[in-house]
Amino acid sequence: MTQAIRSSPKPFTPDDYANRMARVVDDAAEAGLDGLIVTPGPDLVWLTGYRPTAITERLTMLVLTAREMPTMLVPALERPDAAAAAGAPGLRLVDWADGSDPYQVASGLLRFDGRYGVSDSTWSAHLLGLQKALPRTGYSSLSECLPMLRAVKDDSEIARLTAAGAAADATFGEIVNVRFAGRHEYEVAADLARLLRDFGHEQVDFTVVGSGPNGANPHHEADDRVIEKGDTVVLDFGGLMYGYGSDTTRTVAVGEPDAEVRAVHEVVRQAQQAAFEAVAPGVPCEEIDRVARTIITDAGYGGQFIHRTGHGIGVTTHEPPYIVDGVRQPLKPGMCFSIEPGIYLPGRFGVRIEDIVTVTQESGLRLNNTPRDLHVVE
Ligand code: ZN
Ligand code: ZN
Ligand code: ZN
Repeated sequence: MTQAIRSSPKPFTPDDYANRMARVVDDAAEAGLDGLIVTPGPDLVWLTGYRPTAITERLTMLVLTAREMPTMLVPALERPDAAAAAGAPGLRLVDWADGSDPYQVASGLLRFDGRYGVSDSTWSAHLLGLQKALPRTGYSSLSECLPMLRAVKDDSEIARLTAAGAAADATFGEIVNVRFAGRHEYEVAADLARLLRDFGHEQVDFTVVGSGPNGANPHHEADDRVIEKGDTVVLDFGGLMYGYGSDTTRTVAVGEPDAEVRAVHEVVRQAQQAAFEAVAPGVPCEEIDRVARTIITDAGYGGQFIHRTGHGIGVTTHEPPYIVDGVRQPLKPGMCFSIEPGIYLPGRFGVRIEDIVTVTQESGLRLNNTPRDLHVVE
């Protein structure tokens, strides 16, 4: 077992959270916002460490502005939990009692004619309640006004992503030893989930086992198809470890693959490798996509590469930066994202290869390091 899996990272400190809050307040001001409204979900976990046990119709809302101290509105009954879990020094709690109108209380924390960025996971019921209480206040989606909010990871976040990547690699190292031929996809998926947990994941989010024609659907999960000799199988799996995501894909062959499978796999491998080699600070996200797509297109499979090349990863497994045409955002050291080109031949088979990559001061560094050649399983 690698070092990365064995040593658990240091917990985030109250200062880590305070620094994140201070940074996003600056970012918000730069984006012309009066502040941010963050309700339970990944942004709130990242900013405060607080994840209410149940996300309910009761309003919980963090307000960050340049002029006031960070304030979180919480249901009165959840105040003790929030006080214990929300880590930052100087985070003020305000509560509202059942039977009162939380949006009236919330409106006291906001400017009546302000403009706020709102976390994407905010329930529409809450946003509509705020709009009713403050009809002249404007709201925009955080992923639109501050898409890079969580995109640059600090060292302790990268340590977690590294551990999650190593655990996913260990999972692949074991899954190639299980029997494929004659078993249902869902049985191999269960093996993947068990291995991810054995290697330290606290949460398994997806275990794609796309055998034969099912591999041609990029988001096929796993069904009752019986895997046969001669199939290719797309294995795409991940979840959370220490609160941070893993997401890796390898395509294996059950028994000796034919020449076409080998050729398609080699095109994808070259596209993935070239895209990885293109990673460096300052390179636009869309350039990484272009590099992978050009290789696949030149090989004649451009129409069969039907998704973006990658997505960011952190406290969620799909988040900015998106590695896709039109995203001109330059890569910055600390960004972490997938590079996962694929070729999908409907009714026949699919091939995808995916690693998580982080941007260093001069290049890219893979957080997944299992071999990328076409592995033959039984
Ligand atoms: Zn996906
Ligand atoms: Zn994946
Ligand atoms: Zn992915």
